[in-house]
Amino acid sequence: MIPVRMLYHLRDFRSSAIRKACVVYWKPIKNIVQQKTNDGHLNFVFRLSSFALITMTTTERHLNIYDLSLPALAALLNDWGQPAFRARQIWRQLYVNLVRSPQEMTDLPMALRERLAAELTFGVLELETMQQADGGMTRKALWRLPNGPVLESVLMIYPGRATACVSTQAGCAMGCVFCATGRMGLLRNITPGEIVEQALWAAREARTSALSPQPLALGNYADDDRWASDDTPSPQPLLPSPTRLSNLVFMGMGEPFANYDRWWQSVERLHDPQGLNMGARSLTVSTVGLVPGIQRLAEEKLPINLAISLHSPDDTLRSEMMPVNKKYPIAALLAAARQYVAKTNRRVSFEYVLLQGKNDSPEQAARLGELLRGMLCHVNLIPWNPVPGAPLHRSHGERIRAFQRVLQDAGVACTVRQERGVAIAAACGQLAGAQVAPTLAEIALV
Ligand code: SAH
Ligand code: SF4
Repeated sequence: MIPVRMLYHLRDFRSSAIRKACVVYWKPIKNIVQQKTNDGHLNFVFRLSSFALITMTTTERHLNIYDLSLPALAALLNDWGQPAFRARQIWRQLYVNLVRSPQEMTDLPMALRERLAAELTFGVLELETMQQADGGMTRKALWRLPNGPVLESVLMIYPGRATACVSTQAGCAMGCVFCATGRMGLLRNITPGEIVEQALWAAREARTSALSPQPLALGNYADDDRWASDDTPSPQPLLPSPTRLSNLVFMGMGEPFANYDRWWQSVERLHDPQGLNMGARSLTVSTVGLVPGIQRLAEEKLPINLAISLHSPDDTLRSEMMPVNKKYPIAALLAAARQYVAKTNRRVSFEYVLLQGKNDSPEQAARLGELLRGMLCHVNLIPWNPVPGAPLHRSHGERIRAFQRVLQDAGVACTVRQERGVAIAAACGQLAGAQVAPTLAEIALV
């Protein structure tokens, strides 16, 4: 028999739910059965007498190993009496070999593998659907988080490289009217581990894509549609598919700066030279325009790329499209962008989603040109991906080109984002939006 108060001292019983129960049932317990549920929660059955049972599932989940930094993992393993080199060994397995379970870590002793499996969770994202387009070169994953919300990630494969687009929140509180995610509201912030897991999925997918290269027409995937360069896309010869995740953009669901601390931990993890080892310049964050986030990013040591969603040269229209503009209007946003450039000497990218008859006139392009003239910046024009039920229209190709010409004539560098995965709605929030808006089939028709 174990006196209940002893439970306070047992490592496995640190959950607050169990502690509360200990106070309520201050009685000896005859035996305890502990089970791990599929989503990493612990389930306990306490037998108080031959008749009385208490069953409870902890509100705390087992720690997700992807939420641990290397020092935190080292501290845990030290607690377990493991030698110091084990943490790096496991780290390498997770972030270089990309293994998904302790069973695959064959360089570890069996007892340690078993303890890892029993006490930690190796990833919490459950793959709900995966869709492919562009001959398998665009892949989109819909994930389910442990407590229900959905999340999406996209992988775009190009000759010699691959770009992942990951989510930083489940849903989004910003409410931009043209965005499927904005219509969901914020479901919850996600953890660094949940962000990193999406990147690991992309890295594994990119790696396996090399094993089964898909034939593509010449020049079909010449440019990166999320992080455009100044170079005009040119036809490229067929090359073997890449094995390495080369770029990552935080342009999936959510506003990264509204989940800054957790998001930044994921940036550090992706950059870690002992892990995924992604160069800071191959990482790009996109913000709706949260000025304090831009100021904070300017102070960070890692020089990742910054993209700002501008979408309109005037405050009335921008506030209509993006409620955040009431808090951080264009003048404040551009002042923050200028300070960022002055402080970092890095070029800022402005995203501009083109909506027919709303923000796509040559006059608006000229006004935008005046606002941005002289700034170390680049404009990325984005054809709008229709969101079912939104009373908006995508600008025609000719109108987009005219807009681009006006900006270029004003001396502002400007490219049009190449589209990927239209058939599987691989745009910000599109697939996840299917959970709250009409059917996936309707969305996939756009
Ligand atoms: N919350 C951040 C990052 C995620 S959205 C932000 O708003 O910048 C990434 C980009 O996709 C943003 O520029 C956003 O305006 C754009 N976007 C959102 N919905 C879109 C749609 N339906 N079609 C095209 N671009 C869209
Ligand atoms: Fe949120 Fe970005 Fe969508 Fe706006 S565009 S609702 S900030 S995800």
